[in-house]
Amino acid sequence: MLIEAPRGTQDILPGVSANWQYIEQTMRDICRLYGYKEIRTPVFEHTELFLRGIGETTDIVSKEMYTFTDRKERSLTLRPENTAAVVRSYLENKMYAESLLTKLFYIGPMFRYDRPQAGRYRQFHQFGIEALGAKGPSIDAEVIILAVQLLERLGLTDLNLYVNSVGCPECRPVYREKLQEYLKGKTEELCSDCQSRFDRNPMRILDCKNPQCGEASQGAPHIVDCLCDECSNHFEQLKILLQAANINFTLNPRLVRGLDYYTKTAFEIQYAPLGAQSAVCGGGRYDGLVEECGGQPTASIGLAVGMERILLALEKQNLLPAANNQIDVFVAPMGKETQGMAFKLLCDLRKNGIIADMDFMDRNIKGQMKQANKYPARFVAIIGEDEAAQGKVMLKNMESGIQELVDSSEVQNKL
Ligand code: AMP
Repeated sequence: MLIEAPRGTQDILPGVSANWQYIEQTMRDICRLYGYKEIRTPVFEHTELFLRGIGETTDIVSKEMYTFTDRKERSLTLRPENTAAVVRSYLENKMYAESLLTKLFYIGPMFRYDRPQAGRYRQFHQFGIEALGAKGPSIDAEVIILAVQLLERLGLTDLNLYVNSVGCPECRPVYREKLQEYLKGKTEELCSDCQSRFDRNPMRILDCKNPQCGEASQGAPHIVDCLCDECSNHFEQLKILLQAANINFTLNPRLVRGLDYYTKTAFEIQYAPLGAQSAVCGGGRYDGLVEECGGQPTASIGLAVGMERILLALEKQNLLPAANNQIDVFVAPMGKETQGMAFKLLCDLRKNGIIADMDFMDRNIKGQMKQANKYPARFVAIIGEDEAAQGKVMLKNMESGIQELVDSSEVQNKL
């Protein structure tokens, strides 16, 4: 047990950490293009924040949180997602006073107690963005286009973008009633989770993965047919903006988030080859959340991308860059007498920004050449006793095999 990571967690080993750095860098580059600045919040928060900010009726809060009490009996929770924490920080740090629109991004681990499977973990990582303060549909379009451009830049094709509108506290109750009316005679056919959702959160029945529930709700009315004028206009404008930007999308009336502070736009991007866990990105508008957390009403929208799933998708399509372990030079002393000079050369080279290494395991010269090839090293600086006596090294170009005797102070220039 001591040498096994907890179920649903995984180590990111040196062989794959470069892949993570690559996708993280692509995300950072995109955010720079669109003007989103990084925020880093703690990995745990007061439990209360998530009860409020995600909603007590959601699966995340009711079944999946890692909650614990600390030594002073405070209830804390490892963050299961980051929007609530970003909103908390936005309010606590009065970011709203700095500008009318606040655009933030984050990258980091999230924690959910769920049944682990391929593409679903208990500690996973999300890249997310949040735009707080703007209510018009163009920011919705920007957020969606940012996600599409990110995935395209990583080389992913065959993506499906689904969009819907979940209305607002004005029009949604009307829809809720219509939906309940439709499902009333069918509650027997629903799974036990959905039976309890019927009263609390009936819209969530629409996106239940259980096939019986899908069948029972097949002919259910669509929320887009029940939107108030404002929500309907917003959704129409969004579609026009996406079309103008040549973004393909499909309307999906089953894409829902049942809570009051989720409003208007909801969207998801799927990468079908991932199978059961095909959602790589999800997002939407949450015009009521900032107020729910104690701030002024602040129209906002955000998204989150699952990094492990992106990595799986890139692996599947062979889109990860080849590993680059090459170093500039491997310093190879021949015997103990020249080790001191070799070590000094190594330090000088590194100080000057040259990627250099040497043997620390007392290998003989043959073993050291093997090491140099393994990297691979572009050059090997061999230091024998004769060379050392003259302050010189034998610099071997590993590609051409050509050797040249150079002053040790000249090695850097020769590289
Ligand atoms: P959500 O916060 O549930 O809207 O999820 C946003 C994205 O995070 C999803 O589209 C997934 O790509 C990813 N995600 C959510 N839960 C997990 C999990 N347990 N393991 C891995 N990725 C996840």
